[in-house]
Amino acid sequence: MENRYRNRKTIDALAASIRRRFDAVGRGLKIMNVCGSHERSIAEWALRGLMPEGLELIPGPGCPVCVCAEHDIGEAIALAKQGVTVLSFGDMLRVRTRYGSLMDAHGEGADVRIIYSPDDALEAARKEPGREFVLFAAGFETTAAPVAALFARQVPDNFSLLTALKLTAPAVETLVLGGRATQALDGLLAPGHVCVIVGAQDWERFPARHALPVAVAGFEPVDVLAALEMILRMIGGEKAGLANEYARYVKPDGNKSARALMENVFRVDQAFWRAVGSVENSGLFLKDAYRRHDARLRYGVCIEDSADQDIPKGCLCHRVVLGQSYPNECALFEKKCTIMDPFGPCMVSEEGACHIWSRFGAAVKRRF
Ligand code: SF4
Repeated sequence: MENRYRNRKTIDALAASIRRRFDAVGRGLKIMNVCGSHERSIAEWALRGLMPEGLELIPGPGCPVCVCAEHDIGEAIALAKQGVTVLSFGDMLRVRTRYGSLMDAHGEGADVRIIYSPDDALEAARKEPGREFVLFAAGFETTAAPVAALFARQVPDNFSLLTALKLTAPAVETLVLGGRATQALDGLLAPGHVCVIVGAQDWERFPARHALPVAVAGFEPVDVLAALEMILRMIGGEKAGLANEYARYVKPDGNKSARALMENVFRVDQAFWRAVGSVENSGLFLKDAYRRHDARLRYGVCIEDSADQDIPKGCLCHRVVLGQSYPNECALFEKKCTIMDPFGPCMVSEEGACHIWSRFGAAVKRRF
């Protein structure tokens, strides 16, 4: 059966409408996506090739591995080296830091294991009650919700959490508000899967406070193009608003159960984003009721923030995640830095812009 979200006629019609609306606006436009999965759709389906000249689709800070602070990874490495079993999603193992990498620690004999879901971590801890396990959780709301759900069950004593969990909208607001994204943006594609959890309403702040049009988008080519067209409509009508292209899954107030779980388990506080720095109200940390499962308190690991050393020399990740540079503007792109041997964090994860651009080409080929 044909996938209507990849239908050629619909794609052509949306692309034509985008071009018409862009011409009517009569100036260059910059629209940022803040989700690696959107960047992947744009690159994989070569959607940039359908855009009129002057309409830029800019990858933003949408990859949790790319923005995970070096000191958070350093703490995970320190825990692994002191004999605790560290459980992590696989891509994080390859991120290089000034403390080495989790992969290096594993090579030196530390017990670092890959998990595929937070549930795997709990199961590992239950199976070996004589060992201490730490789940190193780096991710956005889509990871935070299932991690919070672990604590709704009986969490064994030998299990604790090293959180590098983050909230997306507050960080993007800081970038937009603080003017840290180079270009003045004309619109945002909001991440559909994050909004399934937190609701479209979490992105209302952008039109309301910054007159910036936002469309919540799914991940098929028709989803992305339809959301872009919604943004173009708002720009043409000179009325910033919040559109929800992904209404088949995203409710205005999200998933109430998941939000309640997160609110029960986590407190919101300032968090450090690699390449960006500290962002108010953008990190999730265990509440006091769960402090005995807080790995930082339990094992006394604490490495101070140090933004100035956070990016390997020559790497432009700090500019790529802010939408200030495209991946192929980095001198190391596909030379010293490749998917097989990533030098900077944006080349490691499948959600990193450098990884995506390397995998799918410079994303300007016309596929349809
Ligand atoms: Fe960093 Fe590699 Fe991307 Fe350059 S190509 S910005 S070194 S991740």
